[in-house]
Amino acid sequence: MSTAATAINSTHALSPATHADPRLDAIRAKVEAGERLTLDDGEVLFSTPDIWSVLEMADSVRRRLTPGIAYYNINRHLNYSNVCALSCKFCEFYRKKDQDGAYTRDLDYIRGQAREAIENGATEMHIVGGLHPYLPWDYYPDMLRAIKEVAPDLHLKAFTAVEVVHLAKIAKKYKAKDRVEGIRWVLSELKDAGLGSLPGGGAEVFDDRVHDETHKGKIRSDVWLDVHRVAHELGLNSNCTILYGHVEQRRERLVHMDMLRRAQDRALHRLGYEGEPMRPEWLRSQEDGFAGGDQEAEASGEAGGDNQIPVVSLLRPGVESPERLREQGKITADDGGYFQTLIPLPFFPDGSELEHLPGPSGLENYRTLAVARLMLDNFPHIKAFWIMQTLKMAQVMLQSGADDIDGTVVWYDITKVGGASTHQEVTVWDLQKAIREAGFEPVERDTLYRRVKRDGKKWRVET
Ligand code: SF4
Repeated sequence: MSTAATAINSTHALSPATHADPRLDAIRAKVEAGERLTLDDGEVLFSTPDIWSVLEMADSVRRRLTPGIAYYNINRHLNYSNVCALSCKFCEFYRKKDQDGAYTRDLDYIRGQAREAIENGATEMHIVGGLHPYLPWDYYPDMLRAIKEVAPDLHLKAFTAVEVVHLAKIAKKYKAKDRVEGIRWVLSELKDAGLGSLPGGGAEVFDDRVHDETHKGKIRSDVWLDVHRVAHELGLNSNCTILYGHVEQRRERLVHMDMLRRAQDRALHRLGYEGEPMRPEWLRSQEDGFAGGDQEAEASGEAGGDNQIPVVSLLRPGVESPERLREQGKITADDGGYFQTLIPLPFFPDGSELEHLPGPSGLENYRTLAVARLMLDNFPHIKAFWIMQTLKMAQVMLQSGADDIDGTVVWYDITKVGGASTHQEVTVWDLQKAIREAGFEPVERDTLYRRVKRDGKKWRVET
């Protein structure tokens, strides 16, 4: 065979027709019917060579949930300290107290950041830091109050579940046997001081093996889920993440997604969603060996466990998103909060203890986000966090499952993609252009996904 003929044949081998995977037919039918996918369906989505069909199905779900638009916001990040008692292997952010580059911000600095944020029209400040071993409990509510003094309208999305548990410990409110009360005390105090919602960090991958290999010492999945459940009970919305592409298997990513959607079932059920009874095929298979859902129920004192919670798919005909119900006044924050979005975070090896690992490829990033959109049928949004995905990748992700690319950011110290500095800022114009090029109308949102009406730096939530 000639070289030219070989080249033609290998081109044909890459054609979509050759990649068509009949296993996707049944999954497509379920997606169209708004039916929950199983973990085995998720395995097919992760393993099929027909990645384009996976992206296209995720796009169809995203367009049903958020037709025609894509969200961005104007925000600022504040990392109040990078001093951390832990040393997670995938983390390049933390420093020990006397190490070069360690910092802890005082309240004057923090007030200055808040002033700068409102001068630039920000609607949100995203606040996270390391688990500082020596800062007193008062520092944290004082920080929120200091920001609210100078910027009362700024929404404070602050403290990962890991930090919340750390704060309960330093406030001496955390008891292993009754952790929920300590968590509730901390979140109530922080809410009184101005906390508006919880970010989604610290979830990593909900798996004990991965936990012990990469972030031993950090809270486990059942505790992370307890923090978010209590936040929801207190009327706080929250986000969640998955940090993928290191030592975890794809099945473990799917179990993580399954645990999140079951926690969301619980939150939506509390808001009055009826849902439908759990079917055996939707239950996580026993060989995954995880008991977090039951521990969660046990810790909460709620009878029945996850198997009793009805399954809610926002893709079922006539099922409204919780945001829409809040808009219509049918529910309020007093009824409870819920998960707003999942943010898939690719692992970046540079500078971490896992530097020898390659990290996920671009295609793996697209696929993981699309699979998340398909598995999480009860999540209103999936975010392509441009700062970790890059704005160019995030643009494509808007066409493969994501409906949000986050905000203008400015200072981001957690991960630096491709050697970027801590100053990572895009303009509103950059975000709007990226969204328009992807074929959507850009919509500025506040932290709770309400439309923002803006006149320069002045803004208000559209009613
Ligand atoms: S990931 Fe968080 S908890 Fe772990 S070392 Fe980094 S800052 Fe500390």
